[in-house]
Amino acid sequence: MNEKQKPYLGNPQETIAVLKKYQFIFQKKFGQNFLIDTHVLDKIIAAAEVTKEDFVLEIGPGIGTMTQYLAYAAREVCAVEIDSALIPILEDTLQAYDNVTVINEDILKLDLRKLAEEKNQGKPIKIVANLPYYITTPIIMGLFEKHVPVESITVMVQKEVAARMQAGPGTKDYGALSLAVQYYAEPYIVANVPPNCFMPRPNVGSAVIRLTTHRQPPVKAADEKLMFQIIRASFNQRRKTLANGLKNYEGFHYSREEIEEALKACHLAPNVRGESLVLAEFAALSDILKGVS
Ligand code: SAM
Repeated sequence: MNEKQKPYLGNPQETIAVLKKYQFIFQKKFGQNFLIDTHVLDKIIAAAEVTKEDFVLEIGPGIGTMTQYLAYAAREVCAVEIDSALIPILEDTLQAYDNVTVINEDILKLDLRKLAEEKNQGKPIKIVANLPYYITTPIIMGLFEKHVPVESITVMVQKEVAARMQAGPGTKDYGALSLAVQYYAEPYIVANVPPNCFMPRPNVGSAVIRLTTHRQPPVKAADEKLMFQIIRASFNQRRKTLANGLKNYEGFHYSREEIEEALKACHLAPNVRGESLVLAEFAALSDILKGVS
């Protein structure tokens, strides 16, 4: 039997009551759009497959709406909130849950490896959040690049960003973000979420995406950093060929002949564009160019 209090936030009336009680003023600079739809909240928790075994990190709890759902479903929750005006509100809305810790900090400044070590003995954690959209990419890439042990990341993001994360070669949304995310994880768009599910309404569409971390990267590059530089260089100038992208990239000093030779060795046409290459081809190209530099 679960003796925990069922989540009561998640509808417009309760949210308005909390905001009024504390005379809370929304901070645009913190990307504050609070969820007011219980169906969406249920969908996020289901997609994240949160169980009583799990330690969950929530980024940006706001007034604690999703935190209540997480606390109800998980073993333990840690919620990191930058806005100190929300801390007394969270103390109130989360008082019935003894398995939640709130940290008043900037998520980008926190040592999340240490947190996973302390709270989950270094075992992979689940991350669930309605993200502040202005820092979606630094948050997600920071988790991957700093090798925080993560099992899955289930997050609300801007609809276009979700599409870019899931895109495959040859599509308009395919780019450096698609390749970076797909190197570390398997993306799956769970649901599209319209602006009326939030307060205040954002002026963009949203989507819930689940990123399930790979145990092993799907490709092997001798120099991961160089591979990602090549990826960035090839999408820097979208309308240009890959060869021109590499030639014009500030950090590179390859000659045109060296680039052409490398493309040939990878069985790629001299005028190939970055958007048609799959991750394995970027890995092969970076292995060859590594020998050149
Ligand atoms: N989880 C709540 C919900 O769904 O109703 C709020 C989500 S709101 C889109 C984003 C939250 O992230 C806000 O509470 C905001 O203050 C917080 N936030 C913004 N930047 C942050 C940062 N750098 N570190 C931690 N929290 C941040």
